[in-house]
Amino acid sequence: MPRGRALVVDDSAPVRAAVAETLRQSGDLEEVLEAADGLAALRIMAEAKPDIVICDLVMPGCDGMQLLRLRSAKPELTGIPVLILTADTELDRKVELFDRGATDYVCKPFDPRELVARVRVHLRLKLMAEDLAAANEKLVRLSCTDPLTDLFNRRHFNNVIDVEVARLVRYGIPLALILADVDYFKRVNDEHGHQVGDEVLRSVGTTLVRSVRKADVVARYGGEEIAIVLTNTGTAGAFVLAERLRAAVERSEVRSGDRAVRCTASFGVAAADGPGDVASASTLVARADAALYAAKHAGRNRVVMWSVELEEQD
Ligand code: GH3
Ligand code: MG
Ligand code: MG
Repeated sequence: MPRGRALVVDDSAPVRAAVAETLRQSGDLEEVLEAADGLAALRIMAEAKPDIVICDLVMPGCDGMQLLRLRSAKPELTGIPVLILTADTELDRKVELFDRGATDYVCKPFDPRELVARVRVHLRLKLMAEDLAAANEKLVRLSCTDPLTDLFNRRHFNNVIDVEVARLVRYGIPLALILADVDYFKRVNDEHGHQVGDEVLRSVGTTLVRSVRKADVVARYGGEEIAIVLTNTGTAGAFVLAERLRAAVERSEVRSGDRAVRCTASFGVAAADGPGDVASASTLVARADAALYAAKHAGRNRVVMWSVELEEQD
């Protein structure tokens, strides 16, 4: 199954055609592009993102060595392997090519079998590196995500809150934490079954994500508890937002057959407007938790802000 695209760079049209034809005949590639000099090649590399470049060394204008030099200044192009075709057999020259970032070289006149074999190796390595990078990205995403709700998970929450508290303490950037807990969620499970309960939880998560800014982090904190980290938001803003979230959850519903399942949630908010307000993530979490507890006690479906007085009431 051919995979990958090559770019052949040579100022001589017959040589370029011969190299391109050799690669096309190999059946390894989806497409073979062509360029007559280094500058045209760089333009095509930036636009078409080929998977490998086979480049003549000596060309008028921008030659192979210059192409390597210009490519090294463009991080988005350095992942594209460049194989140099050269009639130069001098060792110093070859070493210089590698120092400048060449992936490999093939001597001219080239043997088609050797050229194809080397292109195949570098293409395979390039595509493997890409697959690995994509797999890594997926793993990173998975390690931060809660599988049921697709919200961030507790691990990611812990990292974020630590970083944000450090930013607050160091630079005085305000920070707020909202802890939300679905009211009487056990009843939802008991009355409609666990699967509908799961659906309600997913729906609450989606409602919350839709109601906050992109920079805010919505994470599943525990069973039916969701934490929202509000970056760059102080007491006043956090209260307004929490109230908006509460109203949004109250309005939303999940269909279960011909029935509409609705729920409400209680919200505990702790905010820090300046560096002296909170010294650690655990303090902020404990305060939001205390406020949430107070919201439950006061009758649920409401927002309570943490304050010193709240602690004194206990
Ligand atoms: P309160 O208003 O005091 O919060 O009442 P509650 O019923 O929501 O609280 P409680 O802590 O008594 O019960 C929480 C319920 O949430 C019990 C548990 O089975 C359910 N739960 C936790 N995680 C999940 C989940 O992933 N899916 C479903 N369907 N239910 C869950
Ligand atoms: Mg609950
Ligand atoms: Mg709970």
